[in-house]
Amino acid sequence: MRTYVANPNHIGCHTLGKSEGAFRGTHELEKELLNVLAVDIFKSEPDAFDGYVATGGTEANIQALWIYRNHFVNKLEASFSEISIVASEDTHYSIPKGANLLGIDLIAVPVDFETRIIDKKVLINYVTTAKENGKKYFIVVSNMATTMFGSVDDPNLFATVLTDLKVDFKIHIDGAFGGFIYPFSKGEISIDFDNQHIDSIAIDAHKMPQAPYGTGIFMCRKNLIENVLTKEAHYVNGMDLTLCGSRSGANALAVWMILFSYGPHKWFEKISIILMRTKWLCEQLDALKIGYYRHANMNIVTMKSKGIPKEIAKKFDLVPDTHNSNHTWYKIVLMDHVELDHLEQFINALKQSQLVQTHLLRSFL
Ligand SMILES: *Cc1c(COP(=O)(O)O)cnc(C)c1O
Repeated sequence: MRTYVANPNHIGCHTLGKSEGAFRGTHELEKELLNVLAVDIFKSEPDAFDGYVATGGTEANIQALWIYRNHFVNKLEASFSEISIVASEDTHYSIPKGANLLGIDLIAVPVDFETRIIDKKVLINYVTTAKENGKKYFIVVSNMATTMFGSVDDPNLFATVLTDLKVDFKIHIDGAFGGFIYPFSKGEISIDFDNQHIDSIAIDAHKMPQAPYGTGIFMCRKNLIENVLTKEAHYVNGMDLTLCGSRSGANALAVWMILFSYGPHKWFEKISIILMRTKWLCEQLDALKIGYYRHANMNIVTMKSKGIPKEIAKKFDLVPDTHNSNHTWYKIVLMDHVELDHLEQFINALKQSQLVQTHLLRSFL
């Protein structure tokens, strides 16, 4: 609260060059926070990354797209029309938003309906067609959990296909949803800076950690962020390398406080409990023969809407995949406040409606 009143400005990027002197105290805390995230969680070498606390996942994703677009233009003399973003069809809408702002194309690769995974042959086809249409440089957005399904892309699939097709590419990880979950639930594929193909990661502290809104986090390897230097930012001490201008130092401090209050073990425990509840929900749905998608390391259960009566969806505020009438899915995000009691009420409501339906069917026959 004191930091909100003191209102330090965190304009610019504090992991390189100079920064406004008046706010160096909270700038240090932001650096400390980034260090925990980039080095301890996402396996960067110390001092081998740049980053900042952005307004959200949207900004952090667009920052990445902007850096790579300019990288291809600055280093490889690409024209905008030769650059394309590649991402799955389940990718967050901040990516088409970024493509539109940056004037580059987006290839939305379809996924398998049940597994939400991109098939290698399909990816090869899409990239080959793009190459034939003059695309030479690819910005991959690989999801570390999509918003609707919690599905996780394999960054190595993109890396293998694009390497085989002999095109230049950069990989950004959109971890806005899963950034504080997947690394703790230890999925089969590690998605971090240990993988040489991964150059940047976006995560959101205002999703699972429930920090105040305005706490997206952008991280990338050294020598990339300079691609978006705005030379005209004369009045800012140091360099302006970020998409937003002035930003609140209190936001950085809030994330710092949350991370250091939990520490790695308590956070791990919290995620483990949530994943146990997720498992419980899935077992109940199995028993009721209601179809759903769930990634084993994530806390989202996305149910096929045909198994769920409308009244129940409404009563429990299930999130549909689209807000028009032809939705296919409803999801539940398991969080702290979504307790077994609530889940049980939901399951009981489903059981009740299945009983009524069988009964009706029987009396009809
Ligand atoms: C929430 C989310 C975003 C956008 O983040 P905002 O913080 O709302 O800007 C981007 N990608 C994914 C996967 C998300 O879940």
